Formats: sequence, structure tokens, C-alpha cells
Amino acid sequence: MHLINADLHCHSNVSDGTLSPEAVAARACANGVQLWSLTDHDEVGGQHRAHQAANALGMGYLAGSEISVTFAHKTVHIVGLGFDPDDAQLVQGLHETRNGRERRARDMAADLARVGIPGTFEGALKYVGNPDLISRTHFARYMVEIGVCGDPHEVFKKYLTEGKPGFVEHRWAKLADAVRWITEAGGIAVVAHPGRYDFTPNEEYALFTEFKAHGGLGVEVVTGSHTVPEYQKYADMAQEFDLLASRGSDFHDPAESHTDLGTLPALPRSVRPVWDALAHRILMP
Ligand code: AMP
Ligand code: MN
Ligand code: MN
Ligand code: MN
Repeated sequence: MHLINADLHCHSNVSDGTLSPEAVAARACANGVQLWSLTDHDEVGGQHRAHQAANALGMGYLAGSEISVTFAHKTVHIVGLGFDPDDAQLVQGLHETRNGRERRARDMAADLARVGIPGTFEGALKYVGNPDLISRTHFARYMVEIGVCGDPHEVFKKYLTEGKPGFVEHRWAKLADAVRWITEAGGIAVVAHPGRYDFTPNEEYALFTEFKAHGGLGVEVVTGSHTVPEYQKYADMAQEFDLLASRGSDFHDPAESHTDLGTLPALPRSVRPVWDALAHRILMP
């Protein structure tokens, strides 16, 4: 089962990706993906379309979402896989998680206006596919359009991250709640791209320990956000914490994303793939 081409982390224009769920499905299939999950941020609005498109193309499908969580004053992402996308508690929890995004975006725009970049709220909105999900990514795309920076990554570095003039602190869901919504909807909670948070070793240990205590079962090992040494580091962490391992590109856009759907290396042999434990939740053609 290690050799199945599974891509269990990516985004459509239902959150901050640029392609429709159907177009992401087609691209995944063209790249050889056999088991796919669309994991839009704090949303399940694209799940039925993604499932239909995947099955029409002959791919297995797992329901997915990437939930924004605040842990130790930092933002952590928890991917949910294989849940029931119509589960009322999950749908309500995601709705509440999305709630503060417009307020935050207006505050970000006010901050940016103070440093001489006006009109970014309206500008970012031009890139938004889902009015409930205005994200920093949409600001970055607009700020590239108007020539403030050369690419979205530079916008994040100079403006949209902690300590920079367009960054607004935000309280997302609690770790315990996100894990519970996913688990009680029949899915598995997975720590997304752990190598991307700049936690101290103690904070990272606390994250894994608390995540497990709340019922979390998986961790992303091979992701577009990890370096090759991090594949091994998090394969070892998966073993240490007895967690299932996941694999996903975190694809957002053909030009912006450096990792395309379905193109990452296989999971290391030492870990157990998360899809082995989700066989009963896979929606087959
Ligand atoms: P938000 O949920 O609005 O805080 O936006 C988070 C999203 O911003 C992530 O899911 C990524 O897609 C994107 N992002 C975060 N950091 C960077 C970065 N350094 N360069 C490009 N995109 C980033
Ligand atoms: Mn994103
Ligand atoms: Mn993420
Ligand atoms: Mn993501």
C-alpha cells in the first residue's frame, strides 16, 4: 500500500487555490494520482464536487479539509481525512472557524494602507473564489499584481507574517475542537506539515503529545512543505508517537506551487500509511 500514488493535501478555489475542484481532480489524475483528497482551508464546500470528479476519473476519494488552529500562540494546520462531509458538528465548527476572516482581512488592509499600500481589501477580493474564505494568499496575489513584490512568497516575507506591517494576530479553532470535529465525523486527524512551524523542540513535543491526547492519529511525513531530511525526521516522529503517516503536495496553483500533484516520493517503508486505516472511508468509482 506504500506504492499507491496518494495525494491527500491540496487546495481549490473554494479556499486559496486557483483551480476549480474539477480542474484539480483532472490535474491529479493526469499526474497519476490514484487516491485523492481535496483539503480546502476551513471548508467542506467543494467536497461533493471533488468526490464526483474523482470517481468520474477513476480515482478513489477521501473527504478532506485543512483546519486552522491556534496552539501555543502560533497557527497550526490540522488536516482531516475520510470524515462525513455533511456531519453537522464539523460543518458548524468550520463555519465558526471561517467567521473572523473578513474582519481580519479588513484589519490587514488598514495596516497595509498605513504603510502606503491602499485598496488591498478590494484588491484581494478580486482573487477570492469563496466570499467566506478570504485568505492571506489572496492579498499576496493582489500585491504581486500591483507590483509591491515580485512573487507571493516575498509578500509573505515582507508583509504578511508575524512582526510585519500587514500581519494581524488571529484566534483560530482550538486543537482539541478541530481533532474532535474530524474524529466524531468518522475521520482521522493529521498534523499538517509539522516542519513548517518554528516551534522549539519542547513546543513541538507538546503539540504531538496534546494532539495524541485529543485523539489525533496521523502526521504528514512527505509533503511539498518538507525538505528531504524532514521526511526522515517526521517518519521517525511518526514511529515515536505511534502515528499514521500521510503524503500530500499542498498544491495551490500551477505557477505558484513548486510541488505538483502526485509527484512527491513515496512514504518511507518504516511508517504505516494513513490510507491503510481509512480503507472503509475511501469513496470508490
Ligand atoms: P491564512 O489561512 O489566511 O492565514 O493563509 C495561510 C495560507 O497562506 C497558507 O495556507 C499558504 O497557502 C499561504 N502561505 C503561508 N505562508 C506562505 C509563504 N511564505 N509563501 C507563500 N504562501 C504562504
Ligand atoms: Mn493555503
Ligand atoms: Mn497548511
Ligand atoms: Mn494546505
